Amino acid sequence: MQIPLQIEFSQEGYSLRHGDMSEDSVSRDEYSTPNRRATGPSTLTKSRYLTGLDNPREMWFEAHGTSSPDVGEQWRLRQGQLVGELARRQFPGGTFVGGPLLDKHRQAERPLFEGTVQQGSMLARVDILRPHGQEGWVLTEVKSSTLGRSSSEKEAKQDLAFQLVLLEQMGLAITRAEVMHLNPKHVCPGQEPLFVATELGEDREKYVEEVLDRAPGLAQVLAQDEPPNLWPTRKCNSCDCPDRCRDLPEHSIFTLPNLHWSHMEDIVAEDKATLGEVEGHPHLKPRHERYIEVVRSGEPFVDEEAIQGALAEMESPIHFFDFEAIDYALPKFDGTSPWQKIPFQYSLHVLRPDGRLDHREFLHDGGGDPRPGLVESMLDDVEEEGSIVVYHDTFEEKRLEELRDAFPGRADRLQSMIDRLWDQAEVFTWDFIHPDQKGSWSLKNVLPIFAPDLAYDDLDIQHGMAAVVKYSEMIASSSEEEKATLRNQLLKYCERDTHAMVKIHRSLRRMVG
Ligand code: SF4
Repeated sequence: MQIPLQIEFSQEGYSLRHGDMSEDSVSRDEYSTPNRRATGPSTLTKSRYLTGLDNPREMWFEAHGTSSPDVGEQWRLRQGQLVGELARRQFPGGTFVGGPLLDKHRQAERPLFEGTVQQGSMLARVDILRPHGQEGWVLTEVKSSTLGRSSSEKEAKQDLAFQLVLLEQMGLAITRAEVMHLNPKHVCPGQEPLFVATELGEDREKYVEEVLDRAPGLAQVLAQDEPPNLWPTRKCNSCDCPDRCRDLPEHSIFTLPNLHWSHMEDIVAEDKATLGEVEGHPHLKPRHERYIEVVRSGEPFVDEEAIQGALAEMESPIHFFDFEAIDYALPKFDGTSPWQKIPFQYSLHVLRPDGRLDHREFLHDGGGDPRPGLVESMLDDVEEEGSIVVYHDTFEEKRLEELRDAFPGRADRLQSMIDRLWDQAEVFTWDFIHPDQKGSWSLKNVLPIFAPDLAYDDLDIQHGMAAVVKYSEMIASSSEEEKATLRNQLLKYCERDTHAMVKIHRSLRRMVG
């Protein structure tokens, strides 16, 4: 699947366009991202090294071609390619190597792009290598991330160190190694630069030692015919391997709600996994023991008083609201920042005191900024009174805050919406626990308990990232028929989220009276 997102360059800078990716429509030059040849399964590339540091079994499956990137990963990969193209343009006159770095490249006086270096079974593609004074070189790894999390900064430095080791084994002196990444403070088209650099600096020795220590073992894993069995680790419940080390029981320590990861690690180290084995463990909190009791009895735990109290907070008319939003690594619209989530759609069900249920919706379908039209439509549809039910309020609250700050003329109305948010997911964290939730309170785990007839598997779109890519395809499409089909799929998906909340709400009302 190709993500229909392109970058175009002009004197003023860059612009993003949702457009088809067929060969003749994509402009190519020395900065464009080439189609890459796949590497053999026993080659330890930098991305496999990074996966292997976290999960060697997943690395093995990736290398042996039995796991492919999901739609969300494809969206991020495409963004990474566009960021790479723009980054290379910061170094005019560079040479696109796109293959092995050779002796002749040692004499280079200009930047080298996408050269590869291989030592034994270890291979790295180097984003940018620049001559630095007489003998040295600057190694630059380009990341489409803002390195906002310490884990992403750590991973970027591990990535750099892997390349550094191979380049120095090739005899190049790397005088500086840096990650060139997106600046979280950048607001398009603003003052703050879009790219900033973070140096490997004093972490150089630590991460180089880690490469020398871990890479040979990971290369051996790749050379094996079978994936390693690593059972168990605390990540087993969210394991990305297509085939886990061992089948997990339906309920286990991995489904205990909100068990702190360090406690999970301690219990795993005691080789305990089933609920029977962990019951009464000092690390378990009352909520965990309650979950174990719910699973044993098969009867849900219902704190009727707490749920009645929560429902009593609500004011009519009751709005059930859900946003869909798209994120661009390179800001597409003025006033936005890297990876800012831009709402392009909402669904709204309004439950009136007399039981009537109205539905309103909005879906932007042009190439421009969806927010102005969305805000006006939303403030027409959402009444000035009444609770606004959402599922996991952090997402909707953050989007509303960003809209409030971007549209000062509508700030009061948008703040009023924020003040009326009511998070339905809260009920399923403490006050209602059902065995079928399996320790999760996601809408997709809770809905079947209250509305077994209402699932997502009948829809063409079944999760948020799929909606983002379908939206991008809808805008990119030049066929009215295809646009109409995609539009219909997007409307159905978003409506399902708010309809699901209505169903759950009515069931809770019936349950606690
Ligand atoms: S099943 Fe668990 S131990 Fe095995 S690879 Fe997955 S996370 Fe690791």
